[in-house]
Amino acid sequence: MTTPKLNNSMVILRLAKDLGIKKVSNPVEDILKFCEKRIKKILKEFPDCKTLNGLLDIAAAKLNTEFREIFDEEDLFSIKEHFVGKGEKIFSNLENELNDQVLGITFKIRNCESWEREFVSVIDCRGEKGFRAYFTKWHEIAHLLVLTDQQRLKFMRTNLAASKMDPEESMVDIIAGRFGFYPPFIQKNARYTELTFERIDAMRAELCPESSLQAALIGFVQAWPEPCILAFCKLALKKNQQALLAQQRFDFHSAPTLELRATKTTSNRSAKDSSFIIHKNMRVPKSSIIHVLFDGYQDYAEAEENLSIWESSDGRKLPDINITVRAKRYNDGIVALISPIE
Ligand SMILES: [Zn+2]
Repeated sequence: MTTPKLNNSMVILRLAKDLGIKKVSNPVEDILKFCEKRIKKILKEFPDCKTLNGLLDIAAAKLNTEFREIFDEEDLFSIKEHFVGKGEKIFSNLENELNDQVLGITFKIRNCESWEREFVSVIDCRGEKGFRAYFTKWHEIAHLLVLTDQQRLKFMRTNLAASKMDPEESMVDIIAGRFGFYPPFIQKNARYTELTFERIDAMRAELCPESSLQAALIGFVQAWPEPCILAFCKLALKKNQQALLAQQRFDFHSAPTLELRATKTTSNRSAKDSSFIIHKNMRVPKSSIIHVLFDGYQDYAEAEENLSIWESSDGRKLPDINITVRAKRYNDGIVALISPIE
């Protein structure tokens, strides 16, 4: 769900009220501020914490949860046995609970000794899910940050499909994205005015080596103080063609044509403030270095261009802004970092 939709969601409004936020004007921002207050309080106790991985650990400790990672079946059964053996029946169906769609589950421990943590967050790191483990951990932490009724909770399950539909899950993802890449940790690096792939790699290695490359790209772009756009580009159909294809309504003459498009884009806050935006699914201009790289054999290219070469299908051009484009091969397409030239 997008932020404007979430701001109109009754569930999110109620969550903000339940958290005790008195004046709710922009529920998503208000809830983020509420969480930031809690994170800042935690950080005050641990002034030596300098990395995002470190922040994750102390947040888990302060929010009273313990991460248990599952890399294979053996891990799964030993965790299950351990907790069932302690009388926590809720773990007895763990192998079925962690189906293909579930990334993590936070359980409330019933027979918790005073020195033990009150929750256990089981993180599924098997196969492809492993790439998301860092984000899944932050997602579970985010749930605990906005947990309003501790007593009612037995467990929270993080389901891939639900994340797209459920307002609270979407809100929790936004919180995870904000604190998994908490801006104050990243902005120390802003003396390097432009964000490059090398800079992102270096910050990732230093601050959060556990995060996946994709999460790091999005997270660091969002936290960067200078305007920046991240665009994942690959061959794709126009939106209305996607709908026609889904209904199989193409005839011989209107066969769909795949073109290089910016299928996933992120503009950070400072970019949005200055209307520096590339719309989702826009066609990549043939003359852009992104297209040139895609058609060629190199792994990386950069160039100075003008944003106005980007044009939507109705002929409208993006604003006249000189930009630096850094483009790199990524999976079956290209990922690009785009920043304005001062
Ligand atoms: Zn969740």
